[in-house]
Amino acid sequence: MNTAQQIYEALYQHWGEQHWWPADSPLEMILGAVLTQNTAWTQVEKAMQRLKSEQAIDLNRLVDTPASTLEEWIRPAGFFRQKARTIQTFCQHIQQHYNGSIDTLFELETSALRTELLSWRGVGPETADSILLYAARRPLFVIDAYTKRFMVRHGWADEKATYATLASFFTDQLEQDPALFNEFHALIVQLGKTHCRPTPTCEGCPLQPLLTHPVSV
Ligand code: SF4
Repeated sequence: MNTAQQIYEALYQHWGEQHWWPADSPLEMILGAVLTQNTAWTQVEKAMQRLKSEQAIDLNRLVDTPASTLEEWIRPAGFFRQKARTIQTFCQHIQQHYNGSIDTLFELETSALRTELLSWRGVGPETADSILLYAARRPLFVIDAYTKRFMVRHGWADEKATYATLASFFTDQLEQDPALFNEFHALIVQLGKTHCRPTPTCEGCPLQPLLTHPVSV
C-alpha cells in the first residue's frame, strides 16, 4: 500500500463515510464552492438557505438580481461583495457562452473545463477543483489549508510546495476515481477540524501511527 492509500485507510477506518456536500443540483454545488472560500461551512449553509428561500438557485434569477440584494442574501458567508460579483460573472458567462446550461459547460473535457473555470473572476485552483470534483465529477484532488497542514507536519510536503505539487502527491498514488477523491477530501477536512488544528492533538489521531518525528508548531 502506498502512502496516500495508507492515509486514506487510516482516516476511513477511524471516521467512516462522510456523506459530504449534499446538493440538489450542479449550480448549488458551484455556489457552495464559491461561498465556502475563506469561511466555515456553517456560514455557507446560512447563505444557501437564504438563496433557497429567495428561490435564487437559478442562473437567470442570480443574474437579474441587483448586486446589492445578492450581497445581502449571501452576507453570512463573508466576503459577500466579492463572492456576489464572482457568482454573477460566472452566471452571465454561462448564459452567454453555454446557452445558460451548466450541462453544456460540463461537456468540455477536463483540462479545458479547468482552464475555463480558472478564467472566471474570483475562482482559484481550490474552487475550480471543488467544482470539477463535486459538480462535474472529475478526478481532481482538492487541496485546501487542512491538506497542506497535515502534509507539511508529516514531511510529505514542503511548506513552499505549490498547489499542483500537493495535488499530484494524491493523484499520482491513487486510482483516478472521483468518488474516492470526494471521500478523501471530506476525511481530511474532518482531520483538520478535530486533530490537525493550528495546535495539533496527535494523541488519538488516526494518522499518529504514520508520524515519524515530533511535530513542531
Ligand atoms: S498525527 Fe498530529 S500532525 Fe499528524 S495529522 Fe494527526 S494531529 Fe496532525
